[in-house]
Amino acid sequence: MTNSDLLQRSLAAVWHPCTQMKQHAEGDSALPMIPIASGKGVWLHDFDGRRYLDGISSWWVNLFGHCNPRINAALHAQLEQLEHVLLAGCTHQPVVELSERLSALTGGALGHCFYASDGASATEIALKMSFHSWRNRGQGGKQEFLCLRGSYHGETVGALAVTDVALFKDAYAPLIRPASTVPTPDARLAQEGESALDVARRAAAALERHLDEHHSRIAALIVEPLIQCASGMAMYDPEYLRLARALCDRYQVHLICDEIAVGCGRSGTFFAHEQAGIRPDFLCLSKGISGGYLPLSMVLTTDTVYAAFYDDRVSRGFLHSHSYTGNALACRAALATLDIFAEDRVIDTNRALSAHLGNCLKPLADHPHVRHLRQCGMIAAFDVRSDDTQFSERFYRQALAREILLRPIGNTIYFMPPYVISQEECDFLVARAIAALDAALHS
Ligand SMILES: *Cc1c(COP(=O)(O)O)cnc(C)c1O
Repeated sequence: MTNSDLLQRSLAAVWHPCTQMKQHAEGDSALPMIPIASGKGVWLHDFDGRRYLDGISSWWVNLFGHCNPRINAALHAQLEQLEHVLLAGCTHQPVVELSERLSALTGGALGHCFYASDGASATEIALKMSFHSWRNRGQGGKQEFLCLRGSYHGETVGALAVTDVALFKDAYAPLIRPASTVPTPDARLAQEGESALDVARRAAAALERHLDEHHSRIAALIVEPLIQCASGMAMYDPEYLRLARALCDRYQVHLICDEIAVGCGRSGTFFAHEQAGIRPDFLCLSKGISGGYLPLSMVLTTDTVYAAFYDDRVSRGFLHSHSYTGNALACRAALATLDIFAEDRVIDTNRALSAHLGNCLKPLADHPHVRHLRQCGMIAAFDVRSDDTQFSERFYRQALAREILLRPIGNTIYFMPPYVISQEECDFLVARAIAALDAALHS
């Protein structure tokens, strides 16, 4: 196999996600597609001997490197036991153990775990469960959802309703029953003399006004705790979550924390919502939970929500299902991932790594084209001052030419590496990114 062989076949037969396929068409200006032959740690290798440092954890899923020996071993062992069984009427060891361990990680507050295979489905489940639990409790009028400006919760038709990214949503507007949006606490919105805390309080005041008027129709508020990732790594003060939790309690509205991207240690704590000292009514997880190995998602919820469905009547149950709900291999990958967190004390060791990443980025603070240099745990980002509408694509190419895989979101460049990145690899990643930035700005 060679790069060009696989590339041609891929362009003919595979419809790639989040992609205008024509951009990859033949010609000198075509956007390069990278045929990946293998992966090891933070490195991806193509068929022609080139390598790329995976600076975005393969769309934020990979935590402990590609082909991690410990996760591989766990999966090999599971393959010899059970690959999959339906989870309606049957159960198995990996799904039970995983549910127990996730519950323990929430201090037992979210002790009921419902499974699916991808993030968008977890969002759908949380929305449906919230609405249905109110309905079962005689509050069927709660039929609406609330999300933050710039929110991203997935791209199925239901999840798009609570997603506020025009590029993904606008074409499908006629199909969607949109949620209401309230102001984001994005710290970049700070005005002269304002702190991130002030922005959070201002956004919470707007939330309060909205809830005060509409709460009787609202089932849930859905948020990405601390970092709105897909709309450009917008970071905000945890005070917003504290205030939102209190307002949701006061107005009888569920709080859904979508930790699909920010969970599993990304924000510096295992769950991002921990930094606000709160618990949500629903917690959505996916992406990193299986270590980046297999599609898996889940929604964790409380005794109160669970009790609203527990009844003699079947129709009051939560009858949602996916064929691969609770897949044994995916659950085993998740258990192996949680084992690594515990055995290697990952949350502690990531503190030094995150500080190192911050130090590497310091020189950028004075760069004339860099704005809003920011970091939360194992995510760092900055915005680039440039009027060039092609900037993002230009940077992507310059980065690939320097052996690093980074995909800016508009003019936001971000780093979200696997936790197994070494300090030397971190230096390499940032130094090459700075070189790519200057090349992209001057090309
Ligand atoms: C990626 C993401 C989703 C959607 O997950 P998929 O597996 O891509 O469907 C939902 N919410 C957030 C916050 C995400 O980052």
